[in-house]
Amino acid sequence: MAFVFKPEAPVAAPVFGSDDAVAIRRVYCVGRNYAAHAREMGFDPDREPPFFFMKPNNAIVSVNYESPLTLEYPAETENYHYEAELVAVVGKGGSNIPVESALEHVWGYAVGLDMTRRDLQVKMREMGRPWEVGKAFDKSAPMGPIHPAETVGHLEDAAIWLTVNGETKQKSSLDHLIWSVAETVAYLSKFFDLEPGDLIFTGTPEGVGPVVAGDSIKVGVESLGELTVDIV
Ligand code: MN
Repeated sequence: MAFVFKPEAPVAAPVFGSDDAVAIRRVYCVGRNYAAHAREMGFDPDREPPFFFMKPNNAIVSVNYESPLTLEYPAETENYHYEAELVAVVGKGGSNIPVESALEHVWGYAVGLDMTRRDLQVKMREMGRPWEVGKAFDKSAPMGPIHPAETVGHLEDAAIWLTVNGETKQKSSLDHLIWSVAETVAYLSKFFDLEPGDLIFTGTPEGVGPVVAGDSIKVGVESLGELTVDIV
C-alpha cells in the first residue's frame, strides 16, 4: 500500500543538551489551573475545577534558548494573548494512573506558551461552541527544548514568569498549580490512554494579556531557562 500523499514527518521537539528529539503525539492543555488566573477570567476556582482541551501536535513550534523565535501575529484576531506554561512530557504510557506513581510517567519538562486568540475563544465559549479557533490554530504552541527529569528533577515549586518588552506580566510558582503535575497526569489518564510523546501544557498563572506586532515576549521556568518570542 502506498500513501497517496507523502506522510508528514513526526513533530520533533529537541532534547536539551543532546542530539535526541521526542516525537510529539498529542498536546493536552489544562484550563484554569491557577486560582488567580481562573478569577481574572471571571470564574470561581473553588466551584469549578480545571479541565482539559487539546491542540494539534503540529501547533508546536520549537524555540531554542540562543535565538528568538519570530512569530507572525495570527489571522482573524484582535486580541492575541500570551500564556506562560510549564509543559510536562509523558515518557511512559498508561491509563487510570494512581497519583502516587504519576511522576514515573513524566519523562521531562519544557517551557511553553499557550498562545490564544482570546476574542475568538471567549466568543466560542459564550456560544457554547468548541474552542479550536481560539486555541488550536497554527503555531499556537511555541515550546523550548525538553529537559529530562533525570537531569532537572521533578519541578514542584519552580518560578514561572513572562515579560513583554521587559515588563513583568506573569510571575508565579508551580506550587500554585491547582492540580499538580502528578494530579494532572492521574486525572487525565482516567479519560485518555496516555502514550510516550504526549505533552501536557499545565496551565497559566494570572497576568495574561495581549501582544501586538513589535512586542518581544520572554518566558521562563526556573531551572529550565528563558525563551524569547518576537511578534511581527
Ligand atoms: Mn493555557
